[in-house]
Amino acid sequence: MARRRHNPRRAKTHYSYTIAEVAELYGVHRQTVRNWLADGLQPNEAARPFLIHGTELNRFHDARRSAGKSPCGPGELYCFGCGAPRRPAGSMADLVLGPGNTSSVVGICPVCDGLMNQRVGAARLAVHRGELEIVTRPQSEHLKGS
Ligand SMILES: [Zn+2]
Repeated sequence: MARRRHNPRRAKTHYSYTIAEVAELYGVHRQTVRNWLADGLQPNEAARPFLIHGTELNRFHDARRSAGKSPCGPGELYCFGCGAPRRPAGSMADLVLGPGNTSSVVGICPVCDGLMNQRVGAARLAVHRGELEIVTRPQSEHLKGS
Protein backbone atom coordinates (compact mmCIF):
# COMPACT_ATOMS: atom_id res chain seq x y z
CA MET A 1 0.00 0.00 0.00
CA ALA A 2 1.34 3.39 -0.95
CA ARG A 3 2.35 5.65 1.85
CA ARG A 4 -0.36 8.15 2.51
CA ARG A 5 0.10 11.46 4.11
CA HIS A 6 -2.41 12.88 6.49
CA ASN A 7 -1.66 16.52 6.19
CA PRO A 8 -4.74 18.12 7.70
CA ARG A 9 -6.64 19.84 4.96
CA ARG A 10 -8.59 23.02 5.23
CA ALA A 11 -12.29 22.86 4.65
CA LYS A 12 -14.06 25.59 2.71
CA THR A 13 -15.54 28.06 5.17
CA HIS A 14 -18.70 28.81 3.19
CA TYR A 15 -19.77 25.26 2.60
CA SER A 16 -21.46 22.52 4.56
CA TYR A 17 -20.24 18.99 4.01
CA THR A 18 -22.05 15.68 4.13
CA ILE A 19 -20.34 12.83 5.97
CA ALA A 20 -19.34 11.33 2.62
CA GLU A 21 -17.80 14.63 1.52
CA VAL A 22 -15.92 15.02 4.78
CA ALA A 23 -14.55 11.50 4.40
CA GLU A 24 -13.38 12.34 0.89
CA LEU A 25 -11.87 15.68 1.91
CA TYR A 26 -9.70 14.16 4.62
CA GLY A 27 -9.14 10.81 2.95
CA VAL A 28 -10.66 8.86 5.81
CA HIS A 29 -13.41 6.29 6.21
CA ARG A 30 -16.98 7.47 6.82
CA GLN A 31 -16.90 5.68 10.15
CA THR A 32 -13.97 7.89 11.12
CA VAL A 33 -16.15 10.94 10.49
CA ARG A 34 -18.88 9.44 12.67
CA ASN A 35 -16.27 8.94 15.37
CA TRP A 36 -15.38 12.63 15.07
CA LEU A 37 -19.06 13.49 15.53
CA ALA A 38 -19.15 11.38 18.69
CA ASP A 39 -15.95 13.07 19.73
CA GLY A 40 -17.12 16.67 19.65
CA LEU A 41 -17.47 17.64 15.99
CA GLN A 42 -20.72 19.61 15.84
CA PRO A 43 -23.07 19.08 12.87
CA ASN A 44 -25.36 21.84 11.68
CA GLU A 45 -28.44 21.99 13.82
CA ALA A 46 -31.61 20.46 12.46
CA ALA A 47 -29.94 19.08 9.37
CA ARG A 48 -30.70 15.46 8.59
CA PRO A 49 -28.71 13.72 7.28
CA PHE A 50 -25.79 15.39 8.99
CA LEU A 51 -24.21 18.43 7.42
CA ILE A 52 -21.03 19.83 8.89
CA HIS A 53 -19.94 23.36 8.19
CA GLY A 54 -16.41 23.98 6.96
CA THR A 55 -15.57 26.38 9.77
CA GLU A 56 -16.58 23.73 12.30
CA LEU A 57 -14.36 21.16 10.59
CA ASN A 58 -11.41 23.52 10.77
CA ARG A 59 -12.16 24.36 14.40
CA PHE A 60 -12.40 20.70 15.33
CA HIS A 61 -9.09 19.80 13.71
CA ASP A 62 -7.30 22.86 15.06
CA ALA A 63 -8.44 21.89 18.55
CA ARG A 64 -7.15 18.37 18.08
CA ARG A 65 -3.84 19.55 16.71
CA SER A 66 -3.10 22.05 19.43
CA ALA A 67 -0.42 20.99 21.82
CA GLY A 68 -1.30 19.92 25.31
CA LYS A 69 -4.70 18.59 24.37
CA SER A 70 -3.35 15.37 23.02
CA PRO A 71 -5.18 12.36 24.39
CA CYS A 72 -2.13 10.25 23.70
CA GLY A 73 -0.63 8.11 26.42
CA PRO A 74 3.08 7.38 26.88
CA GLY A 75 4.60 6.18 23.63
CA GLU A 76 1.50 7.09 21.63
CA LEU A 77 1.14 9.53 18.76
CA TYR A 78 -2.12 10.84 17.40
CA CYS A 79 -3.24 9.48 14.02
CA PHE A 80 -5.54 11.86 12.15
CA GLY A 81 -6.41 9.13 9.69
CA CYS A 82 -7.76 6.86 12.40
CA GLY A 83 -8.86 9.63 14.71
CA ALA A 84 -7.17 7.86 17.59
CA PRO A 85 -3.90 7.70 19.49
CA ARG A 86 -1.64 4.93 18.27
CA ARG A 87 1.63 3.42 19.27
CA PRO A 88 3.81 3.79 16.15
CA ALA A 89 4.60 0.71 14.10
CA GLY A 90 7.47 -1.29 15.57
CA SER A 91 7.54 1.06 18.55
CA MET A 92 9.92 3.14 16.46
CA ALA A 93 9.84 6.85 15.78
CA ASP A 94 12.02 9.63 14.42
CA LEU A 95 12.80 12.74 16.36
CA VAL A 96 12.84 15.57 13.86
CA LEU A 97 14.62 18.70 15.04
CA GLY A 98 13.10 21.82 13.68
CA PRO A 99 14.22 25.45 13.81
CA GLY A 100 14.54 26.94 17.26
CA ASN A 101 13.36 24.71 20.07
CA THR A 102 10.71 22.88 18.13
CA SER A 103 11.03 19.19 17.67
CA SER A 104 8.57 16.55 16.57
CA VAL A 105 8.27 12.84 17.08
CA VAL A 106 7.19 11.15 13.84
CA GLY A 107 5.99 7.58 13.48
CA ILE A 108 3.96 5.42 11.12
CA CYS A 109 0.44 4.38 12.09
CA PRO A 110 0.31 0.56 12.31
CA VAL A 111 -3.36 0.58 11.30
CA CYS A 112 -3.64 2.94 8.31
CA ASP A 113 0.06 3.56 7.41
CA GLY A 114 -0.49 7.27 7.92
CA LEU A 115 2.26 9.53 9.15
CA MET A 116 1.78 10.52 12.78
CA ASN A 117 3.47 13.66 13.96
CA GLN A 118 3.55 15.10 17.45
CA ARG A 119 5.32 18.24 18.53
CA VAL A 120 7.13 17.56 21.76
CA GLY A 121 8.90 19.41 24.52
CA ALA A 122 11.63 17.95 26.71
CA ALA A 123 9.25 16.38 29.23
CA ARG A 124 7.08 14.71 26.63
CA LEU A 125 10.13 13.53 24.74
CA ALA A 126 11.53 11.89 27.88
CA VAL A 127 8.27 9.98 28.30
CA HIS A 128 8.42 8.78 24.68
CA ARG A 129 12.04 7.72 25.05
CA GLY A 130 10.97 5.41 27.85
CA GLU A 131 8.51 3.68 25.53
CA LEU A 132 9.86 3.92 22.00
CA GLU A 133 13.05 3.55 20.06
CA ILE A 134 13.64 7.09 18.90
CA VAL A 135 16.19 8.03 16.26
CA THR A 136 17.17 11.66 15.99
CA ARG A 137 17.28 13.15 12.52
CA PRO A 138 18.07 16.67 11.44
CA GLN A 139 15.12 18.16 9.60
CA SER A 140 16.91 18.57 6.29
CA GLU A 141 17.75 14.88 6.17
CA HIS A 142 14.21 13.94 7.02
CA LEU A 143 12.73 16.09 4.29
CA LYS A 144 15.03 14.66 1.69
CA GLY A 145 13.35 11.30 2.21
CA SER A 146 14.48 8.23 0.33
ZN1 LIG B 1 -4.00 5.53 11.48
